[in-house]
Amino acid sequence: MDDRISRDDAAMLTAFAWALRSSCRYYLVGCAILSADYELIGQGYNGTPHGMPNCIDANCAKRRGNRCEGLHGERNAIYHVHDRQKLVKATLYTSLQPCVECSLFAVQVGLGRIVAGGRYLRQSVGDDDRVDDIEQAMSVLERAGIQFDWYQPESQYAIDQTAHFMQYRAMVLAGRADSPEL
Ligand SMILES: [Zn+2]
Ligand SMILES: [Zn+2]
Repeated sequence: MDDRISRDDAAMLTAFAWALRSSCRYYLVGCAILSADYELIGQGYNGTPHGMPNCIDANCAKRRGNRCEGLHGERNAIYHVHDRQKLVKATLYTSLQPCVECSLFAVQVGLGRIVAGGRYLRQSVGDDDRVDDIEQAMSVLERAGIQFDWYQPESQYAIDQTAHFMQYRAMVLAGRADSPEL
């Protein structure tokens, strides 16, 4: 029996760990990026830019009918990659399905594959009635030739850790706000 976990398992469990660093009230999203030759080149989670107050400390702008000022996890993970060349054909692991903007950004930097750990359902608060079209995001990836896969934990270890992550995430979000990730 092969007791090594797969690269997909290792990278997604890394993304899950970073998701729990998120300072958002509504979503805990973590990402990890493996280059085409499987080097871990980037990690990130959703949150406001450096120097700006966190949504959990200062009240998210969504609650005033504006857009949340947190950068998405995908965006932050890509931002933190030092060598942009390594993004070409890289795989981005994200705990939550990417939005349209992050999908477009994935195309721009040349990613080859995206693996998503869960479905995205946009949270609308107050008079914020924008609809983020996830089907459009999927279409962007398809048209650009970026492979998209839903994460399927392979090893028993990853199955257990995924369940543990989902439980812990739900507990954290229940303590913060009315979240669709529950
Ligand atoms: Zn926010
Ligand atoms: Zn996004």
